Amino acid sequence: MPLLRSFFNILVLAGTIHAVRDIPIVFRDAAMNFNQSLANVTVLTTGGTIAESGSTSVQTTNYGTPNATFQDLVNAVPELISVANLVGYAIANTDSQSINSTVLLRLNQRVTSELASDLTQGVVITHGTDTMEETAFFLDLTTQSAKTVVVVGSMRPASALSADGPLNLFQAVSLAVNPKAVGRGTLVTLNDRITSAFYVSKNHANVPDAFYAREQGHLGLFLNQAANFYYEPAQPVGKPFFDIAPLNLTTLPMVDILYAHIESNPGLIQASVNLGAKGIVFAGTGAGDLPEHVLDAARDVWNSTKIPMVFASRAMNGFVPYPDSDPWRIPSAHLTPQKARIMLQLGLATGLNGTAIHSLFDDLQI
Ligand code: GLU
Repeated sequence: MPLLRSFFNILVLAGTIHAVRDIPIVFRDAAMNFNQSLANVTVLTTGGTIAESGSTSVQTTNYGTPNATFQDLVNAVPELISVANLVGYAIANTDSQSINSTVLLRLNQRVTSELASDLTQGVVITHGTDTMEETAFFLDLTTQSAKTVVVVGSMRPASALSADGPLNLFQAVSLAVNPKAVGRGTLVTLNDRITSAFYVSKNHANVPDAFYAREQGHLGLFLNQAANFYYEPAQPVGKPFFDIAPLNLTTLPMVDILYAHIESNPGLIQASVNLGAKGIVFAGTGAGDLPEHVLDAARDVWNSTKIPMVFASRAMNGFVPYPDSDPWRIPSAHLTPQKARIMLQLGLATGLNGTAIHSLFDDLQI
């Protein structure tokens, strides 16, 4: 099997992932052999709690910066040796609040090329949990494959009494090689749960059971490390695909999220445009509303700039319907402000005009 043999021949390089690097680190068994009966999974590391440790076993906040290498991550889970052959690349090494569009685009390039490779049967991305839902959603909209992409992290650092990273990683790799996972889009797994990247949100800042889609639910559950799916594979209504890999983008257009509240400052809308925003997402009150004086300001800015403005909800769950006036308002449907922002960035990055961007969001409603 010549293709597989060349995979075996990838150089084993010791090293850390403190700096971003594009050198594969290969995980093999004690005899340094790949298992020809197992699938090959590529792990892309970006940092986050899963790569962090505190100073004591009871510390579960403020534990520092990512310092575990891919090798450290997989060394903590020797059981992986019977699940897949792994190769790891560091794409970034950061807490996820500092992920930016350059990292997202780098991830898209790497994931796209891995999915196209005969040497790779699945991809796992390790990521901080704070913005995991954005990265996972971005990858869901920018990849299309009969192979599975899984995004995983942990809520507890590796040093904690109840460290969840090792089991989460084991389950993520298991999912990446599971034929039953195919056709469900990008997946997120933590805390024994399997959830669609399209719908998942981080719903708690501290506890391990933080990731779920309150409205759409989980796709499945791990039991004795076997994935049990509740449904046959299905895709979210209106999910678009943005074929951005060939565009070689290095950054995504600037889109700001403005949070609505009583006495919101209407001047922030024009200020945002002045600072370079090419689109605005409102985290509106309730079903995407703004205080009247803020809506007036948004209308004025739209009339003078025609930049797309998407109306989401600060309630974080629920539906923003079509507006009964002001048809320039783009309702986010069920997308949270942060997911609506990613979709708007992708629409702008691929050159869609205002009507096409409106349709992109309209398609989420049937
Ligand atoms: N804020 C950090 C991050 O998102 C730590 C949170 C975590 O990974 O759980 O990367």
